[in-house]
Order: sequence, then structure tokens, then C-alpha cells
Amino acid sequence: MLAYLDHHATTPCDPAVVAAMAPWWSDQFANPASRLYRPALEAAAAVEHVTALLRQGLGAAAASQVVFTSGATEANNLALKGLAEAALASGNPRRRFVSVVSEHHAVLDVLHYLERHGFGLTVLPVDGQGLVDPAALAAALEPDVLAVSVMAANNEIGTIAPLTALAPLVHSAGAVLHVDAAQAVGHIPLAMGALGIDLLSLSGHKFYGPKGIGALLVAPGVPLAPQLHGGGQQGGLRAGTLPVPLIVGLAAALELAIADHAARAMRLAVLRDQLWEGLQAIGGFSLNGPPPGPSRLPHNLNVTALGVEGNRLHQLLRRQIAISSGSACSQGSPSHVLAALGRSRLEAAATLRFGLGRGTTAAEIEQALQAVGDAMQTLRHPTG
Ligand SMILES: *Cc1c(COP(=O)(O)O)cnc(C)c1O
Repeated sequence: MLAYLDHHATTPCDPAVVAAMAPWWSDQFANPASRLYRPALEAAAAVEHVTALLRQGLGAAAASQVVFTSGATEANNLALKGLAEAALASGNPRRRFVSVVSEHHAVLDVLHYLERHGFGLTVLPVDGQGLVDPAALAAALEPDVLAVSVMAANNEIGTIAPLTALAPLVHSAGAVLHVDAAQAVGHIPLAMGALGIDLLSLSGHKFYGPKGIGALLVAPGVPLAPQLHGGGQQGGLRAGTLPVPLIVGLAAALELAIADHAARAMRLAVLRDQLWEGLQAIGGFSLNGPPPGPSRLPHNLNVTALGVEGNRLHQLLRRQIAISSGSACSQGSPSHVLAALGRSRLEAAATLRFGLGRGTTAAEIEQALQAVGDAMQTLRHPTG
């Protein structure tokens, strides 16, 4: 059996989530925007219920808006392009974004797009653990900064951003804080209001929900221009018929994740630490990202195998364990996150990203260690 240890790429949809969605496909299928008959009103009520649940689960202000999107990619696009266009339309003279070199492409590529359309962009470096220095952010917060985009947790090396230190700096500079929380929601505690997050992106399939649904949470008063125009759904911010089954599934997944995340984090941290100890016993591995502890996602491990050929290593592992070298989204190009940590192309190729999850067992960790041990033995002592 293949041990699935790639939970940062995606998670299985929990069977309880599939069950929660079931009635909303073929029985309660009415369009919540229809409003004139009871099944449509019931669908609208279900969406309202989910909206309240998301706000509450993520510690968002009662007056904040929940915009359902297709995932975190779309939520990031809406947040950043929406802010930019709203500034242009309102005469707000701020024209610069600040972000971090290790952000997901779904943030960096949007910001580079906006840069080509006249906006300024400051990209902050990270230290050897993937952490951004609050002093560097403070120095970058010129009066022309419209917004700062910082991810809550990194999808490759598991670094948890020091948002409590960063958010006050952003606000005292009069800028808006966007947080891509795709790897944090459902995994670590995250309170939007308490942390001072103005815009928060999330994606259902990263916390055992369905693929194709996510959300952007918008704090009260944050001006955004819509990116999808049409039927005026979602307060005009994102047109298109609401995917009620997916929305119900998103909420069910969040409820489940909130219920078990503390126990899951503790269990997976133990397994992750066993994995790291086992790799150190095999030898030849160097850790990427923070040491296991409060600055690292409990279910993440990322290591580079030194002095072996990455392609061969991954080839030897691929029938035993499902893991990746970097992000699932980088399409063959070397990881910009590992490059930011100073890893060479060859080192990046010989990197193993492990993402443990709800279903991960001790036996799978054993299997992974066995597979890696065998592979390293083969690569170090080639026969014939
Ligand atoms: C997965 C991920 C995304 C993209 O989410 P989609 O659901 O594929 O749109 C964005 N940011 C981070 C940090 C992610 O891990």
C-alpha cells in the first residue's frame, strides 16, 4: 500500500463531509438565489448558517463578509486584485504591495501581475527558517503601501508566521493585511479578529473538505472590487450560482477540524518527530524550516538528502510513499521557497516534503522510514 504523506498538496475529503453534502446534490438542489419557493429559501438558509459558522470558527467579526470562492487561489486573486482596483476607483493614492519571498505562487504571481499593471511591489526575504523579520517589514512600510500579504503557514516548510508581531506594524502604517491561511485553517488555532487580519483566504480541500470550494473572509470596511461580474450574488463581490453542496461540505469540514485539531496536532507532532528521528538515524538529511516546535506546523517535515540524486531518490520512493519535493503547484520548476533558504537546484530536487494527516498511522511512518532507508542504501552503495 502506498502511504499518503502529501497532505499539504491535498487531503482526502472526510467521509462525514461527503455524508453532510449528500442531500444537497439531487434532493435539495434549488438555487439559493431563487427566493420565491421554499426549497430555495432552505438552500439560502443553509448558506447563511454556514456563513455564520465560518465567521465564528475563524474568529471573524460579526459584520465581516464571507465570500465563497473556488479555493484559495481565487480568494487570493480577489483579495489582491480587488484591493488594487478598489484603490484605483476610489482615488486612494496607495500603490504598493508588500509580500514575502516564500509566499505561494497564488499570491506572488498575482502581485507580479499587478506590478506589470503599475503597482509597486516589495518582496521581503526570509531567514534560514523561513521567518520574516518584523523589523524588515517595518522598514518596508512606506506611506504608499496599500496592503501586506503574508501566509499564515508555509505549504512546503511549515513555517508559522509571527502574525501577532506583524499585524500591528501593518495597521499602524495604515495598510491592509491579507493572510493566505490555506495551510493553517483547520490545523492550528487562528482567530482573524484577534490577530487583526483584514482579508483571509482558505481552501476546503486542505482541511478534509471538498475540492473546488474556498472562501475569502473580509473584515468590515475593507474595500474590494469584484473580479467576477454577473448575477450579483454574494453582495456583488463574486457573481455565480452558489455551489450549495460544496459550501455545506466546507462548513462540515471546518467543524470537524475545529473539533479534532488539538488532539490531531499532538498525535501528528509525535509521529512527525519519530519520522525526523528515524531520518537522522539513517543519516545524510538536513532539515529545511524551523525545528519541530511552535514555529512549525505539527504535521510538516521537510528535509534535503545530501549528496544523492533527487530524481533517483524520488523514483525509488514513489511506489512506497506519496510525497513531493516541493509544492504540488510549481510544475517542475525548482521550489522558490527552498531557493530562498539557500538550497541549490540539486539540493531542492533531493528534498522530501512530508505532510502527515488525520489518517496517518505509526505503521505508515515505519513504512516511510523503511523505504527511505532502503533508497539511501541503494543510492550510496550502487551495485553493478
Ligand atoms: C493549496 C494552497 C493554495 C491554493 O489553493 P487552491 O485550493 O488550489 O486554490 C494557496 N495557498 C497556499 C498556501 C496553499 O497551500
